[in-house]
Amino acid sequence: MTERVRVGAADLDAPSGVVLGGDAAHHLLRFSRVRDGDIVVAFDGVGRERTGRACDLRRGELRISWDGPARPGVVADAAGVRWIQCLPKGDKMDGIVRQAVELGVRVVAPAYSARSVPREVGARVEARVDRWRRIAEEAARQCGRADVPEVRAPLLLAEAIAHVIEAGRLFAWERATTPLSAALAGLRPEGGIAVVAGPEGGFGDDEAERVVGAAFVPVSLGPRVLRAETAAPAVLAIISAFSGDLAAIPR
Ligand code: SAM
Repeated sequence: MTERVRVGAADLDAPSGVVLGGDAAHHLLRFSRVRDGDIVVAFDGVGRERTGRACDLRRGELRISWDGPARPGVVADAAGVRWIQCLPKGDKMDGIVRQAVELGVRVVAPAYSARSVPREVGARVEARVDRWRRIAEEAARQCGRADVPEVRAPLLLAEAIAHVIEAGRLFAWERATTPLSAALAGLRPEGGIAVVAGPEGGFGDDEAERVVGAAFVPVSLGPRVLRAETAAPAVLAIISAFSGDLAAIPR
């Protein structure tokens, strides 16, 4: 598999190549064992990439010498999904972030709902957000995306839904009577889609009413109750089928 490395946006336009040090060089030299002349794809995290060859290998440093021009890379699903995930327990959010990136999410917006436990503050929450952002970057690198989805700091659910700009609004709720497929049929992917999904304990009646009041359409994922970490990839894969992304030919 071709090695991929994230670089700064301006680095892709450097005329002959880019010198890498720090974590990027460490990863390529120590972890991936890149050799002189190996092909490396550099991506800028905002949608472009450029292929080059590793050269001038030294301790903790190497250069990528470009083979061709910068080009648009594979990015988020055309439906531009904002995934509003009410925080589940433990480290389950790590897996949700990773899978959401692989399945083409555009924004991950963690939220505190009434049944999200525990609610962290200060340095602990900052550390978790940093971790999710690192997971998102690593998942983007591994799955061949040239953009890195935005991972927001957690907000109260009411605030998270107030930030929504997408025209399509879906609310994954076990008690919904509209199938996800039927709700999607009435949407256009270009308008973007925001999805609210719950933690282990689901939503209370008042909370569900507030989400519906913010124009989110309750949608069902079928007769079985899925775990939070199953619901996210299930919905995102179905949205990719709807947007056409699932049928796109790999480059
Ligand atoms: N015990 C909770 C309840 O009954 O409310 C179940 C919550 S479920 C483990 C976690 C989240 O996944 C839900 O809040 C919802 O967003 C989503 N989910 C799981 N199964 C679903 C289904 N069949 N239809 C719609 N959403 C579902």
